[in-house]
Amino acid sequence: CDIRLEPYQPAAGACVTLAHADAGVLKRQGHKYSHGHLLVLAGGPGRGGAARLAARGALRVGAGLVTVGCPADALAENAARLDAIMLRALPDAAALTQMLRDRRLNAICLGPGLGHDLARAMLPAALAAGRATVLDADALGAFSETPDTLFAALHDRCVLTPHDGEFARLFPDLARRMDRDRPGFSRLEAARAAAQRAGAVVLLKGPDTVIAAPDGQARIAAATGENAAPWLATAGSGDVLAGIIAGLLARGQPPLAAAASGAWLHAEAARRFGPGLIAEDLPDQLPAVFRGIG
Ligand code: AMP
Ligand code: MG
Repeated sequence: CDIRLEPYQPAAGACVTLAHADAGVLKRQGHKYSHGHLLVLAGGPGRGGAARLAARGALRVGAGLVTVGCPADALAENAARLDAIMLRALPDAAALTQMLRDRRLNAICLGPGLGHDLARAMLPAALAAGRATVLDADALGAFSETPDTLFAALHDRCVLTPHDGEFARLFPDLARRMDRDRPGFSRLEAARAAAQRAGAVVLLKGPDTVIAAPDGQARIAAATGENAAPWLATAGSGDVLAGIIAGLLARGQPPLAAAASGAWLHAEAARRFGPGLIAEDLPDQLPAVFRGIG
């Protein structure tokens, strides 16, 4: 089936392009590997929900295969709850490096529910593999004290998805400036400066989500826009967003496009569902989003 998504309509007065969904066209002659294989490195014991939410988000945007890699002590919990999603125990960085020898694994989502220690241990091996990678949650929090270590390891196919708290810990000076000098130094300017410093796409989450690339290109998904959905402020919704973006990366979208499309699809799924939404509703709402704009 062809899935072609219409651009998000810019609000009056917008100074940069607004986020829009452009999931491209699924190949008619594809097989599951040609639609990408995503590794979701997430979900420690008692936090498997984060991995499952991200994985389901990725499958719903068309990633061909999704494997959850988790600590061995979270394997049983995850195995009981995953159907279309494959599962591997990844106890340490050496196991990850070994797994990434499979070139068909073309994207990584690192962080949701993983725990700081494991995220810190896994990150160098994950990034050394050079795959398109989303870094969220614990993959960001683990570097609160040492952001420069994180920035040095990043490459230009990375997308960072901090909320305001995670942003402030990675970029304290930019967060302070944003508080002090707004509107002159807006969320948009802060995200741009962060992307330049990190050398990666930065998606700063919140009611107004802004997405910036190191070269200064930016997208806005504003809460005043047509798909504003305040009930997205619910546990686990960020994990789904990370999975959606990583799924689009696995499908072959470039980082800025995947982040902008992902933010739009995520918000649109929430808008269509309406109040009462919980995070697990988001992936299941995506087919209706695709049907509505296909
Ligand atoms: P996280 O904090 O990682 O779970 O991510 C929360 C998600 O909800 C992000 O995608 C935010 O952009 C979104 N979000 C949070 N608060 C609001 C809000 N008031 N209106 C719209 N989206 C929101
Ligand atoms: Mg989060």
